[in-house]
Amino acid sequence: MRPPLVLDGKEIQIEERSPPPTERRRAHKWLGEKALTRYKDAESEGLELFISKVAKEKMRNHALRHADEKKEVMGLMLGWIFRSGEREYAIVRDVVTTDLDSSSVHVRFDREGFEKLFASLEESGFDYLIVGWYHSHPGHGCFMSSTDVETQQTLFGRRHHSAIVIDPVNKAVEAFFLDGGTMKARDFAVYWDEYESPYHGTSVRTRRVRSDPDGVPSAE
Ligand SMILES: [Zn+2]
Repeated sequence: MRPPLVLDGKEIQIEERSPPPTERRRAHKWLGEKALTRYKDAESEGLELFISKVAKEKMRNHALRHADEKKEVMGLMLGWIFRSGEREYAIVRDVVTTDLDSSSVHVRFDREGFEKLFASLEESGFDYLIVGWYHSHPGHGCFMSSTDVETQQTLFGRRHHSAIVIDPVNKAVEAFFLDGGTMKARDFAVYWDEYESPYHGTSVRTRRVRSDPDGVPSAE
């Protein structure tokens, strides 16, 4: 299988740029207690990962759509890397995915899905680097399995690469990265652009829609 072309380490000039300001970023609302405490400490030191509200919602919704059937989903995170002082950080602007071959315990891109994936990469409309990947563990919690670690080592071994793991059943999320060969948790923020409405995090309202015998749908 040919890895996505954008994963190769092309040399880029890393520009100095301020990360999203504190008033336009928040902790992901699905962080556990421990991760949230860690986030608060890390925030003052400088985070290494910022995920746009749009990208965050796409990942969450993708995972939620297949939560009932307990199917894993995955996709790639598109963005860029910048430098702020001594610290490099990654911004995730968008995510892409394609047809998947998945069950409750494994997921991979479908072979034919690659063409579609490349098409959506071309359509992204902005220059990007692949800054990581996301996948879901419906009901299993957020961790990196040995297969996940292997994927990370093979395709996402650079420090700016992150892996997002989402458990849509338990409403949990974690980010990971490889630090000199060791898998570590990564603190990250969700940010929104100026003039965009703030990220409130709990905006997914579930509404049950039932189809009545007479065919008129009703909500509860
Ligand atoms: Zn996994």
